[in-house]
Amino acid sequence: MKYLLVILLLTTKISFSQQATNCENIFIITTDGFRWQELFNGADSAILFNTQYVKDTATLQYLYWAPTTEERRKKLMPFTWNFIALKGQMWGNRNYDNCVSVANFYRMSYAGYNEFLTGYPDIRIAFNQPKNNQHSNILTYLNTLSAYKNSVALFASWKLFSYIANGTKNKIPLNCGYTPEQDDFLTATEQLTNSIQENSMYKKLPTRADLITFNLATEYAIKKHPRVMYIGFGQTDEFAHHGEYDKYLNQANLFDKFLAELWSMIQSDDFYKNKTTIFITTDHGRGDKKNNWMRHGTFTPGSDETWMMQLGPNIQPLGEVKYKVQLKNKTFAQTIAHYLGENFTAEHPISKPANELLAATKILGQ
Ligand SMILES: [Zn+2]
Repeated sequence: MKYLLVILLLTTKISFSQQATNCENIFIITTDGFRWQELFNGADSAILFNTQYVKDTATLQYLYWAPTTEERRKKLMPFTWNFIALKGQMWGNRNYDNCVSVANFYRMSYAGYNEFLTGYPDIRIAFNQPKNNQHSNILTYLNTLSAYKNSVALFASWKLFSYIANGTKNKIPLNCGYTPEQDDFLTATEQLTNSIQENSMYKKLPTRADLITFNLATEYAIKKHPRVMYIGFGQTDEFAHHGEYDKYLNQANLFDKFLAELWSMIQSDDFYKNKTTIFITTDHGRGDKKNNWMRHGTFTPGSDETWMMQLGPNIQPLGEVKYKVQLKNKTFAQTIAHYLGENFTAEHPISKPANELLAATKILGQ
């Protein structure tokens, strides 16, 4: 009995030390359907100089073109390549066979968000329809734990997030589509953003402007300090579907600014500073050719190809990871849970965490 106790204590200690990291809070960020090709190679010359996709090629060339890959990608996403590539990690550069992919068959948004939030690429979840997802996810799960209760929030541009992530009984605060922010106290920025959103003359599409989502999300973070926050951007996908490569690139550039501003906010706030990790990915890839980059889906090659980036106190500064590997988006939910020292459980099967990502994180005290 005494020996059993010793073994129990030892194993408890080992498993705790394996999980303990200084990641106390997490921001999960996505930008819909943004290709690894632009993230790692910068603007694609086969598309950038095609007037079918870029109206003013001269200005776009000035903004995003350079002869080398290294210069080009820095012009498109300066914070990513000057900061995350030094202090964080970037996975998914297929030029090095460093691959990240979705496991679901459909390569569509609902299926993609379901896969990485629930850890379960359910074959029955196929199309982008306003139907409640019956599966709980990493966000709703964390919200059931006392440490995170009422400290989880989701802000997204695409209106279907209320069905994808909040379809079960256990709900989290969520703001998506054209929902105004509602609270007893609204900051000046929240009031202004609400008013722009409500009075906009633009046709209300399924995805609102990412800037609205960003403003409302960051104001909420500063005011309420959620420990777990999801921010889902959507306009990279919208502009790509319209075949507007100029706007797609501008949106990627704006997304990079969002990351910079968010990281600066995190590191300026005592609640978050040096205790908060950002985990960044996308829901699917897109066509890998100059004539199919606008689309994605089961029959468009390249649509399963994604990427991920991470930055935070538990993340080793490996930069752009260049070894051969295959990561799957379905492992992200449990990986994120492990970063927080938790184990995600649900009524459905959950993919194991990505061992490569766990091995690339720092254990507390080491
Ligand atoms: Zn799409």
